[in-house]
Amino acid sequence: MDTQALRERYAAERAKRLRPEGNAQYQRLQGRHAALLADPYTPVQARQPRRDAVDFAFVGGGFAGLLTAARLKEAGLKSVRLIDKAGDFGGTWYWNRYPGAQCDTASLVYLPLLEETGYRPSEKYVHGPEIFAHCQRIGRHYGLYEDALFHTEVTQLTWQQEQACWRVQTAQGDDFTARFIGLGTGPLHVPKLPGIPGLESFAGPVFHTSRWDYGLTGGDAQGAPMHKLAGRRVALIGTGATAVQVVPRLARDAGQLMVFQRTPSSVDARDNGPIAPEWFASISAQPGWQQRWLENFTDNQAGGGAAEDWVNDGWTELAKRIREQILRLPKEQRTPPAMLAAFEQADHAKMNEIRARADALVHDSATAQQLKAWYRQLCKRPCFHDEYLQAYNRPNVKLIDTDGQGVQAITPHGVVAAGQEHEADLLIFASGFEVGTPYVQRAGFDLTGEGGQQLSEAWAQGMRSLHGVHVHGFPNAFFVQPTQGANLISNIPHNLSDAALSIAAVVAHAQAHGHRSVQPTAAAEQAWLELLLTGAGRMLGSLDCTPGYYNNEGQDPGPAARLNVGHPAGPSAYFKYIAQWRQSGRFEGLVFN
Ligand code: NDP
Repeated sequence: MDTQALRERYAAERAKRLRPEGNAQYQRLQGRHAALLADPYTPVQARQPRRDAVDFAFVGGGFAGLLTAARLKEAGLKSVRLIDKAGDFGGTWYWNRYPGAQCDTASLVYLPLLEETGYRPSEKYVHGPEIFAHCQRIGRHYGLYEDALFHTEVTQLTWQQEQACWRVQTAQGDDFTARFIGLGTGPLHVPKLPGIPGLESFAGPVFHTSRWDYGLTGGDAQGAPMHKLAGRRVALIGTGATAVQVVPRLARDAGQLMVFQRTPSSVDARDNGPIAPEWFASISAQPGWQQRWLENFTDNQAGGGAAEDWVNDGWTELAKRIREQILRLPKEQRTPPAMLAAFEQADHAKMNEIRARADALVHDSATAQQLKAWYRQLCKRPCFHDEYLQAYNRPNVKLIDTDGQGVQAITPHGVVAAGQEHEADLLIFASGFEVGTPYVQRAGFDLTGEGGQQLSEAWAQGMRSLHGVHVHGFPNAFFVQPTQGANLISNIPHNLSDAALSIAAVVAHAQAHGHRSVQPTAAAEQAWLELLLTGAGRMLGSLDCTPGYYNNEGQDPGPAARLNVGHPAGPSAYFKYIAQWRQSGRFEGLVFN
């Protein structure tokens, strides 16, 4: 392996893709495309606006909201209201019903509350419809449907000092109060489009993968053939984690599929399989089994390694290889630069293997070359699929590689790339979601806390919190997301389930002792931020990487991004620390009034 040659190739490929406009190259679905944001799955039903009072209102009906509500109900809270702009629970799994949607994280650690709901996932990596159905199961199990508000967008949250509660206002005319609020709006929920010249000019139908139009394509999310695509020319823009799952299904059903690629994804083996009932019974016999699985995965994936690797997949292998490479160094040579070099060697070996898959699986050697990813594995979202690369062997599938330049223009008839127009009947954007913009902009509402302070002001220089959950000046409000906590990227629900336990414990404590409000002290919040800044910095998003949403499209994200980190000792250490914090009952750093 020629390390220097690889470094040079990576740098050259990165340079081709750097664009001066950075994140501004993207735009929201606006103008003609605004209508494409509508919910294609559930009809909107008229209802009376709410003017009542609840114990807890949670913005977001995905895993964050479901987990928090479940733990609050277990802790005895009576009225917990989840609010979502979607027509049901599920969050990302409500919206992303594109054919082939599947989770890359193993179901036994990804699907929350398996033990509580008694559910056995069907496969090691389950598909989207099963995940969505599990969200509905959680909603039913904990009685969360009765008070939920769907197709409802929060517009303003305002702290009412005198009454010690939050005023919740929505675009649907609701105006009610909640003693506590939770925010779980998710990181990737605002679909984006590339700002390509002529974007709105295409004469045929268009949609974004997060609003799949089965009325147009035929078929369904369960995998029924999209019969309306027979004989039709489909242009797909984007080759990220979504496209990798969509391509095999479109390849199967479309008359002709053109995949427009700017940067190839790294696509390793999937190796999925059914979960046998007897095996599941054996691993789930003892209470607390799922928590132990979560900890085992996190230890192997992001910690120092556990004795045995139960999940044993691409994520844990990635970490294991790096550890093994470092452990090969004699102890006295394990300096930070030597360890980074060992990490780089492990990475090059893995990426060479992944590139070799393209040669082994794709018959046309020119196409195989174009499908090779020339960057370090964590520069972009690692993908896993056993049918993606093979899809390019079908005669009806064409990869249109743009050598890092991207699509040049959209015309009424199709897509222009490398100076050539490719005519299409249907245009699908697998172009991802808004990332790196301020929280309030993505959420679509602001919080007004104590003394009229807005969250957008409090976070103007970057996110500030205690544990990623509590924010000074915003009493009785809880944020449910990974940043400034464990920041475990390979299994987002572990972050959320842990935050849910903390919130339920804090709320139960406040209730039991008759406290009206709780928030972190300014000093505790500051001390936590200082602790976070002692770490090595952001794990993902090195500016040396090929541009993408992990690294703000290769542009310096500014000083505020320094705070987008997790616990300096890593996710496992964070989870251990916070479990003790919770169990001590002292809730150090919080002040109850
Ligand atoms: P991404 O942002 O990852 O991908 C967008 C794609 O659009 C990229 O390939 C990008 O190319 C391409 N693109 C952007 N502009 C242009 C242009 N002008 N011309 C051509 N191509 C262009 O979005 P996804 O929806 O694929 O994934 C988002 C995230 O959602 C994932 O990273 C993952 O975290 C999550 N996800 C997880 C899944 C799972 O668990 N299996 C499945 C799907 C998504 P470039 O790379 O050059 O920017």
